[in-house]
Amino acid sequence: MCALPGGSIKKIGVLALQGDFSEHLDTLRSLGTAASPVRLPHDLEGLDGLIIPGGESTTMTRLMSEYELTKPVIKLCDKGLPVMGTCAGMVLMAKKISDMSNSDVVPLGVMDIEVKRNAFGRQVDSFEVDLEIPAIGESPFHGVFIRAPFIQQVSDGVTVLSQLPDGRCVAARQENMLAMAFHPELTSDSRLHSYFLNLINGGEGQ
Ligand code: GLN
Repeated sequence: MCALPGGSIKKIGVLALQGDFSEHLDTLRSLGTAASPVRLPHDLEGLDGLIIPGGESTTMTRLMSEYELTKPVIKLCDKGLPVMGTCAGMVLMAKKISDMSNSDVVPLGVMDIEVKRNAFGRQVDSFEVDLEIPAIGESPFHGVFIRAPFIQQVSDGVTVLSQLPDGRCVAARQENMLAMAFHPELTSDSRLHSYFLNLINGGEGQ
């Protein structure tokens, strides 16, 4: 394990109730962090950051409530804990879900974005596309979209990090919070995880 530039080894939790948390843990460990699964409230103690993975946001909402994680996570976010959400994780971070009346998801409401779930159609309509994400460098990032949401609206304090060619927003940042509609943990490109770690270290991402 190695220390990150400009900081001590960071302890990053990955919500591990459902979804593809193990890929996030692997990526974080490969970057030299002390990554640990979060299943119970005491797993949140002493974290420097939290990742909410992709999966099924309806299931994650229910399990977070059952394991009494919802309130402690919101409280930590309010105190400024850096959070990164991917796909269903992004849905959970949102302040608002479009057509909330038709949804079993109760978002945590920690990031000033409105997201539309399952915005590209069903599982069979999943796709991969190279994305421009200038904040992490010039070379494109391979985006894996699986029954993905997109960001329909952002508030003033939110920076759009990436858009599809048709203009739909698929990644955004608000201070030390990052949300993306795709799955960086399913590729070998760890630039977005590094970007998150640099935010935690007080840097500007890169
Ligand atoms: N469609 C899922 C949801 O809304 C997200 C899918 C994913 O995380 N790959 O929860």
